[in-house]
Amino acid sequence: MITTRFAPSPTGYLHLGHAHAALVAWRRARQAGGRFLLRIEDIDATRCRPDFAAAILEDLAWLGLDWDGEVRVQSAHLPEYRAVLDGLAGRGLLYPCFCTRADIARAATAPHGPEGPVYPGTCRHLSADERAARLAAGLPHALRMDMARACTAPLRFLEEGEGEVPCDPRAFGDVVLARKDAPASYHLCVTHDDALQGVTLVTRGIDLKPATAVHRLLQLLMGWPAPLYAHHGLLTDARGRRLAKRDGAPALRDLRAQGVSPEAVRAAAG
Ligand code: GLU
Repeated sequence: MITTRFAPSPTGYLHLGHAHAALVAWRRARQAGGRFLLRIEDIDATRCRPDFAAAILEDLAWLGLDWDGEVRVQSAHLPEYRAVLDGLAGRGLLYPCFCTRADIARAATAPHGPEGPVYPGTCRHLSADERAARLAAGLPHALRMDMARACTAPLRFLEEGEGEVPCDPRAFGDVVLARKDAPASYHLCVTHDDALQGVTLVTRGIDLKPATAVHRLLQLLMGWPAPLYAHHGLLTDARGRRLAKRDGAPALRDLRAQGVSPEAVRAAAG
């Protein structure tokens, strides 16, 4: 049985681009008699808000989408992510990083990866004593994956319509798996939850396709199953720009307030 999911981050109100992503996942599940799950990815307390999460449920219901089982809210599961981090740390695959954004920006020689400048590994080279001293002093730190240790060969993931896609998470450098200001990163939580919830088909925007390399690595390290991926195109505005709230993409609730019907929104969201 196929299981799909829609996993928005409640950082704003849903717009047509989100409706498209939700509809793709929902239709794939319903057409196959499978399960469609809704997950709120609210691990980043600096950007997420409970009222946006509540609005997501309301907007999806208005749109006519139903989901199976309980909504999983990531912020209610922090110990589970902590346990994964502890396991990886116990295997020597993580290290604390005390660098600030400014420190990293100053390391101007850093090459660029899919998520911006690749971390130059400054804190990877700290001596054990220095690391222990900084931890004992309670200095804020992120946890980064020691990519060279964790990943010793290129990987592949299965993309619908393409087959096995070679990928190399080393292009990301030492990715952050727990932030200074958030208990776990998107990469960790999304991969953990897809495995835990038995998601067999991950549909999501093509902008997240590069990140799949990191997710595949986590799956291998943790012994989690690899779902099939189907990355879809993003809706764009009349100028060809990806729909985004900051560029004035109308929220579903604004369309609703203007009297637009759910059927019309579903047609527009495709
Ligand atoms: N929470 C992510 C977002 O809102 C999507 C996660 C995913 O589909 O993998 O961008």
